[in-house]
Amino acid sequence: MSKPADPTPQRDVSQLRAELDELDAKSLEFLARRRELVREVVQAKSADGQAVRDQGREGELLERLIGLGRERGLDAHFVTKVFREIIADSVRLQVEDLQRAASPDASGGVIQVAFQGGAGAYSELAANAHFANRPERVSTSGFKTFAAAAQEVEEGRLDYAILPIENTTSGSINDVYDLLRSTSLTIVGEHRLKVEHCLIATESTPFNQLTRVSSHPQAILQCSKFLESLVGAELDAYTDTALAVEHIKELGDPTHAAIASEEAARRNDLVILSREIANEEENYTRFVVVARQPEPLDPLVPARTSLVMSTGQKAGSLVEALLVFRDRGLALSKLESRPIPGRPFEEQFYVDFEGAEGDEAVMGALEDLTRVTRYLKVLGSYPRCDHEHTSPSPRVISEAPAAPTEQQPVAKEAKAPAVFSKNVSGWRLASREHKAEDTIIQIGSHELGGETPTLIAGPCAVESAEQINTCARIVKEAGAQILRGGVFKPRTSPYSFQGLGYEGLDLLVEAGRAHDLPVVTEVLAPEDVEPVAARADVLQIGARNMQNFTLLKKVGSVDRPVMLKRGLMASIDELLQAAEYILSHGNQQVFLCERGIRTFETATRNTLDLGAIPVLRELTHLPVICDPSHAAGRRDLVPPLVRAAGAIGAQGIMVEIHPKPEEALSDGPQALRFPVFQDLAREFFQG
Ligand code: PEP
Ligand code: MN
Repeated sequence: MSKPADPTPQRDVSQLRAELDELDAKSLEFLARRRELVREVVQAKSADGQAVRDQGREGELLERLIGLGRERGLDAHFVTKVFREIIADSVRLQVEDLQRAASPDASGGVIQVAFQGGAGAYSELAANAHFANRPERVSTSGFKTFAAAAQEVEEGRLDYAILPIENTTSGSINDVYDLLRSTSLTIVGEHRLKVEHCLIATESTPFNQLTRVSSHPQAILQCSKFLESLVGAELDAYTDTALAVEHIKELGDPTHAAIASEEAARRNDLVILSREIANEEENYTRFVVVARQPEPLDPLVPARTSLVMSTGQKAGSLVEALLVFRDRGLALSKLESRPIPGRPFEEQFYVDFEGAEGDEAVMGALEDLTRVTRYLKVLGSYPRCDHEHTSPSPRVISEAPAAPTEQQPVAKEAKAPAVFSKNVSGWRLASREHKAEDTIIQIGSHELGGETPTLIAGPCAVESAEQINTCARIVKEAGAQILRGGVFKPRTSPYSFQGLGYEGLDLLVEAGRAHDLPVVTEVLAPEDVEPVAARADVLQIGARNMQNFTLLKKVGSVDRPVMLKRGLMASIDELLQAAEYILSHGNQQVFLCERGIRTFETATRNTLDLGAIPVLRELTHLPVICDPSHAAGRRDLVPPLVRAAGAIGAQGIMVEIHPKPEEALSDGPQALRFPVFQDLAREFFQG
């Protein structure tokens, strides 16, 4: 077969690669030049006392770049991801420069750091990463225990010790907390390291032949799910991950494996049997860096302070201490309690908060605390290592690249009229009598019920990786904040598609993570609540289950936001009582969804009860959203109903979309096509 003639001569792969290499090299040049400019900026800022971070400017910068990127065919999510990294690097650089100017150089051009563990221990990796940008050489030495590492510094033989203090999966490292209370050392820095566990052995032994796995107990906890699959292997708690690797090397038994970093395997010349074996992909450990003396902190650097305190034993004394932080406007990032040795049932509290010891608010707080505590020890003030990302607003993301289109005015939220005789006895916790102000629910970085209206979108059901990923990209690009997708489908007919189950949940969660979108999915059975809550960001209770009280109690017992949809035949009063089931079992993160009720009218799938929205807004503090897709059952009615719901006070909207609605396995007739959804999202956020 002959191919049609191509007007432009085809360049071969090697030519194209050469061009790519050149572009990549140029990108590096730009990044290096950008860093130089940032360094000049920080000097100028330092001269006139401007803060390192200006999130307003960062937001504007991101938004401008998104616009410019769009003109060049780059999507908003991609631009945001790349520039978040660049902005984070710039913040880090500025902090380091300011700190370097403020602190003394290490003696003899070498920074000597003590850590607990063997070669390639996570603490050693953290030490090298923490001091990577310092001009001095870094020399690390491993010790058997945290106390031995700390002692090297206390006695002046080494400059710093780096100690792990908490892990995002397995929690606090108590020995280190207890050590901080008893040493004379000061915290001068912190570092957050992504922990990536590997299974390591002396030879490439098949999993089913492993007899023993050694590692630090925390690492064993963090990999518990993977370890359950190694049926024949005994678990062996060892002092440290990297020392466990040295240990199996010494034994030379190929059936005895260890869990540690890739670096530990490399340093001991051993084989990696498996990577990424932790339960959670996002597994981080936070370390503190301690020294003999506090180090000067540049006042422009965002700082954190740690302290330990004991409060009196009388009722309310911890509250009194915490009120000091609130009254001084100091945000707490951690409160940890530890027993006091030799005093059973008495506790000490470790507190991390934003600010530095030299700040006026912090000095005031420390003085106030001396009045309400029995014991107070400041562990140190140091530059924060985590800097929250700046997010562009959905208004900007949803903006068209070209000239803005004519916009339909959408009326502002209507004031809810008093139309319902209040009988709150069945839904006390949901009532405004119980809580007057609106509840705001944190979902990922989005506040549902807050200032920005919420747009939830996605397919009725997750059907394939490609389908859910395409939807996720469109949802993100439209500025919507949450991705929906059913994996357990409540179908009226048992012969209809029932959903992909847990396989579908994996696809949904992966698509969400890849696009930085929290996900919502429906749970049908009480036994699915916990496993689904472990992965999804929001649990949905569908209309057909609004009065499944066993299910309501179960979602009430987990710490995950719940979207409760109104039942097909449920009154507003019954909806609120259903919400009360969840609230009264402990979970206060509930929002309600009006999705149409069954009436005599058959022209639409259900009848959207718009009036319920302002009624609910008046009666309850819980956020109220609207799902016009399931109400109308027809895609052409969705945009006007979205406008109506927004005008009448809905705080969010959920709509179904599909790349090819005619091929959808469920609810195709109501699924919006992408262009219509994009226009709708633009109007929704710009209105
Ligand atoms: C859904 O949102 O996927 C759904 C099944 O809706 P409803 O429970 O409102 O019918
Ligand atoms: Mn549906």
